[in-house]
Amino acid sequence: MGFSIHLPTLIILSVAINLLIGGLLWAIYYLRGRQYYFLLWALACGTFAIGSLLAGIRVMVDAPWITVFAAHAFLGLSPFLLLGGLQRFLKGATRSTRRFQLVSRLAFAGYLLALLITFQVDPLSARLLTALFSAIIFSVAIYCLAGPAPKPALPRHMLQVLFTLHGVLMLAQCLVIAAGWLNTSQTHTDTVLRLILANHILVTTATALILPLLAFTRSELRLRALAEKDGLTELLNRRSFFLEGNRIFEKASHNHQPMAVLMLDLDHFKQINDRWGHATGDKALQSIARTLENELRSDDIIGRIGGEEFAIVLLLSEDENLQAVTHRLLNAITREGAIINGMALNLTASIGSIERAKRHRSFADLMLEADTALYSAKDGGRNRAKFGEVTLPPETA
Ligand code: GH3
Ligand code: MG
Ligand code: MG
Repeated sequence: MGFSIHLPTLIILSVAINLLIGGLLWAIYYLRGRQYYFLLWALACGTFAIGSLLAGIRVMVDAPWITVFAAHAFLGLSPFLLLGGLQRFLKGATRSTRRFQLVSRLAFAGYLLALLITFQVDPLSARLLTALFSAIIFSVAIYCLAGPAPKPALPRHMLQVLFTLHGVLMLAQCLVIAAGWLNTSQTHTDTVLRLILANHILVTTATALILPLLAFTRSELRLRALAEKDGLTELLNRRSFFLEGNRIFEKASHNHQPMAVLMLDLDHFKQINDRWGHATGDKALQSIARTLENELRSDDIIGRIGGEEFAIVLLLSEDENLQAVTHRLLNAITREGAIINGMALNLTASIGSIERAKRHRSFADLMLEADTALYSAKDGGRNRAKFGEVTLPPETA
C-alpha cells in the first residue's frame, strides 16, 4: 500500500498553523500587560513559519542562501526564542536570565557559523545541524522546567512531555538523514522525513497551545493567593478564614471530629504603635503571624480577622488538649514578642478558646463564643486565656 504525504500541503499547513498561533500569542502579549515571554513565543512561531516557507520554495527557487541558509537560520532561531521565553517566564528579568540569554546568543552564533560552513556542501547537512541544535535546546528546556518552578505542575509536565517528543523527532531526523547518506534509497528517506515533519507540526501546535495554559494557570494561582491572603502577614484574610472555618466545621460535625476555635487579640497594641511607630507595629504583627505558624501544624487554619486580631481553627487529635495548645501559644507570644527587631515591645496576647460541642449549630456560633471568652480574658487583666465561660444550656440530644 503506497503512502505519501504531499509536501507543499504539509508546508502550507505548517506555515498557516504557526502564523495563527503566533498571532494568538502576540495578541495575548499585546492585551496582557506586555508580558515579554508571550512576545518571544509569538516570534518563535513566526520564525518557524518563515523558515518553513523559505525551505519550501526550494523546489521553485534555486537560491541556497535563501532556501537553505536563511531558512535554517529561521528554523533554528525558533526553538531559541521558545527557550528564551520559557526562561523569562520561569525566572523573570533577573541576572540569571541575562546570563542565560548571553550564553544562548553565543550558542546561536556558533550554530549560524556551523550552518554557514556546511550548508553549501549538502542541503541535508543544514537540516541535520538544525535538528541536532533543536534537540539540544529542547533538552535544555526540559531541564529548565524540572527546576524549582512555580506551580501548577500539570502544564509543566505536559510541556516536558512535548519537548521530549520534539527532541526525539529531531534526533530521529538526524538518524534518518545519516542513514540516507549511508545509501538507503532517497525516496524512502524523503517519506520518513515528511512523516517526521507532519508529527513535528502536531507537536509544535500542541506546544504553542500549552504555553498560554502554563502562564494563565500560574496567574490564576497568584491572583487567588492575593484574594485569599492578608497582604501584611500572608495569613488568611477574614473572608477566606470564615470560608475555611465553615468548611472545616461542616466536616468535623459530619465526622464527629473534635475541633476548636481560638480568638486572639494583642494586648495594648495601640500603645505599641504610639510608642514605637506604625512600621514597628506592622513588624510585630508579621512576627506574631510567624510565631503562630511555627507553633501550629500546617493543617491548622490561621487568619488575621482584624487589625491586631487573629483567629485559629484547630482540628484536635485524641491526645491533644485545647488548654495545653492555648497556653503554649500564649507562652510563645510572650517569649517571641518580648523583643522584636531589637526593640523591647513586651508584647502579650489574650485568647478566647472554645471547643465544638453539640450546641453549636454553625461556625458562627463557635466564633461568637470564642469572642465572648476573649472579652472575658481582656476583662480578667489580659495576657491570659479563657475557655468559653458561657452559661451552657442543657445539652440536647
Ligand atoms: P486591647 O488590649 O484592649 O486589645 O488594647 P488595644 O490597644 O490592642 O486595642 P485597640 O482596639 O484600642 O487598638 C488596636 C490597635 O491596633 C489600634 C490600631 O492602631 C492598631 N492596628 C490595627 N491594625 C493595624 C495594622 O495593620 N498595623 C499597625 N501597626 N497597627 C494596627
Ligand atoms: Mg488589642
Ligand atoms: Mg482588637
